[in-house]
Amino acid sequence: MTISRVALIGAGLAGLTCAHELAAAGVQVQLFDKSRGPGGRLSTRRSPAGPFDHGGADFAAVGSDFAQQVEQWTQAGWLARVDDTRHTGMGSMNALPRALAQGLPVQLEAEIAAIEPDSQGLWKLRAHQAVPGLAEQVFDAVVVAVPAEQAVPLLGAAPALADAVRPVRSDPTWTVMAAWPLPLPARSDRLRPATGPLREARRDDTRPGRERVAGVGCRWVLHATPDWSAHNLDAPPEQVLRRLLEAFSEALGVRLARPVHAVAHRWRYAQVPAPLSEPCGWDAALRIGACGDGWHGATGAEGVERAWLSARALAQRLLNG
Ligand SMILES: Cc1cc2nc3c(=O)[nH]c(=O)nc-3n(C[C@H](O)[C@H](O)[C@H](O)COP(=O)(O)OP(=O)(O)OC[C@H]3O[C@@H](n4cnc5c(N)ncnc54)[C@H](O)[C@@H]3O)c2cc1C
Repeated sequence: MTISRVALIGAGLAGLTCAHELAAAGVQVQLFDKSRGPGGRLSTRRSPAGPFDHGGADFAAVGSDFAQQVEQWTQAGWLARVDDTRHTGMGSMNALPRALAQGLPVQLEAEIAAIEPDSQGLWKLRAHQAVPGLAEQVFDAVVVAVPAEQAVPLLGAAPALADAVRPVRSDPTWTVMAAWPLPLPARSDRLRPATGPLREARRDDTRPGRERVAGVGCRWVLHATPDWSAHNLDAPPEQVLRRLLEAFSEALGVRLARPVHAVAHRWRYAQVPAPLSEPCGWDAALRIGACGDGWHGATGAEGVERAWLSARALAQRLLNG
């Protein structure tokens, strides 16, 4: 069967990349995402103290294909270098997914609950909320581009794929976004304490093209370690905030002034420490596929590169039938 119309669930880097590859080959695509904007974990949180890149905020490229793609995105003005090996979004991390989403049909605030067959052997999607026009849409194929744990319940119609994805475990991350009226006395813009609950503290406002806000001297993003985050997964956000700010103060060796803004955010599924050995999943008989950072990319590739490689691999499989 010729695949001419594809639904993609998830408009993070994987869903957007897969949609681009398919659209470039003449396939009609429709993306659905439960959030208010595209980008998934490459997201930027707006606040009165300015924007915070509170998810994946920069990444490396280990393979030549992805390095070439990163170079093109940089030439296009969507990415900027942070050092010899890493890039971030120009202005904010979500500059990249926002640019990739341009020209693609993305239905936002559409949380898909199930993929269901219609009477003609095609696929329909059911959402948790009312989504205009969804009931009338049918698709030849469906791509599931969401974190593995969230893919499993969506893959009820493709049990072999659900089984393939089920072993993937994502580490959680508790994150704090905080701003102070003056810059803090830090040795560098990126601290990685050897002990304690913090994996990393990163200054956010000095990165390329970041917005300056009157009365705000610095913005920092603090990420807890996977172990601490897992151990405190259900802790109240105020308690997490207090503990991570305390740890930051210890790492800096100073007593912190009162922040002008400080909130905690929990990423239940942040990063995948042990991805699957396959690049993507594709059930050719059912015409349902899965991709994302839970799948294997290149040896040593981080999540962003894996998501991109996985999405491209799935697009190829889908186009080859
Ligand atoms: C704190 C943190 C730090 C990180 N650091 C790095 C790093 O240093 N380097 C690196 O390479 N990577 C890093 N990452 C990981 C990186 O961000 C991800 O690997 C990558 O963005 C994954 O892209 P994706 O498209 O596979 O998934 P996602 O970005 O998660 O996209 C999935 C999308 O699916 C949507 N969705 C989920 N369920 C549904 C549903 N039922 N219906 C509709 N939509 C749905 C979500 O809203 C989301 O937009 C980090 C992530 C976090 C959270």
